[in-house]
Amino acid sequence: MIQDLTIVGSGPAGYTAAIYAGRAGFTPLLIEGLQPGGQLTTTTEVENFPGFPEGIDANELMEKMRIQAQRFGTTFVANSVEHTDLRTTPYHLWLDDGTEIITKSLIIATGASAKYLGLSDEKKYMGQGVSACATCDGFFYRRKTVAVVGGGDTACEEATYLAGLANKVYLIVRKPFLRASKIMQERVFNNEKIEILFNTNTEGLFGTNGLQGAHLISRKGESDERHFDITIDGFFLAIGHTPNSKVFLPWLKTDNEGYILTQGDSPVTNLPGVYAAGDIADPHYRQAIVAAASGAKAAIEAEKFLKQ
Ligand code: NDP
Repeated sequence: MIQDLTIVGSGPAGYTAAIYAGRAGFTPLLIEGLQPGGQLTTTTEVENFPGFPEGIDANELMEKMRIQAQRFGTTFVANSVEHTDLRTTPYHLWLDDGTEIITKSLIIATGASAKYLGLSDEKKYMGQGVSACATCDGFFYRRKTVAVVGGGDTACEEATYLAGLANKVYLIVRKPFLRASKIMQERVFNNEKIEILFNTNTEGLFGTNGLQGAHLISRKGESDERHFDITIDGFFLAIGHTPNSKVFLPWLKTDNEGYILTQGDSPVTNLPGVYAAGDIADPHYRQAIVAAASGAKAAIEAEKFLKQ
């Protein structure tokens, strides 16, 4: 059977595309991937999504979007796309269980994943002190000492969250300033439990039974360069994301980092009937509301394409 529309990804972009496509009379197939609900499910409270003046639990928000997509006829598949052939229409996708999907149009909304520093010690202590998701793993560090790496909004948000659980949080920032928004910076500066280590990089991690500390270097290459260790139980990465575009790469135009290129601020890609929505095409804004809006645009474009 040939599908009219297949949506890959179950974050705000994917679910919103499904809601719009369903209401336009299509029965979209939505491939949810390994983390239904997307990146938002690794956070706690969402305070900036309009319509929820008191904020809303991130998992609850995503579950509501999923129910809304289901209400308008979306079929969900709990698998990931393993490889694709987008040479000609209809397009072919293969899932991790070997299922082949043939589709006339495609909305790619696979988002982005957390980056690591690339230290071999990160792998060594993965699940034993190293994490890229404070809200997933912070619970294990109650009344302990942790470090967060990064100086953006994610790092500040995670440091603030962890400070609510841990006794002490180091924020390791490679520049002499934070890149985060003012409100996030203020939360960090005003939190007594957070100590910011500016101009500091991580050289390695140590510990015999799980993570016990990090080897740091401050003012690298300067005359006052200093090597020192901190004692920590948890090491959290918050240094940005990599787009999940790998399985679509041979066919679609992307930037150097792998973010799918679209025409202007539309979700239109270089292939007819293929659209990119959400963080997969947005290295800049990366907000749930922006992703949702681009999902809506993608569905409207797909509807136009399918009706032609
Ligand atoms: P950003 O790209 O904004 O920040 C990444 C941070 O990690 C920077 O401080 C960067 O340093 C640092 N970094 C990158 N690579 C390394 C490295 N190898 N070693 C050490 N440090 C490194 O990513 P975020 O994930 O913080 O944010 C992404 C987007 O999402 C932003 O637009 C942000 O505003 C948004 N966001 C919004 C939130 C909200 O509004 N509630 C919450 C979270 C994110 P440097 O500055 O030196 O490059």
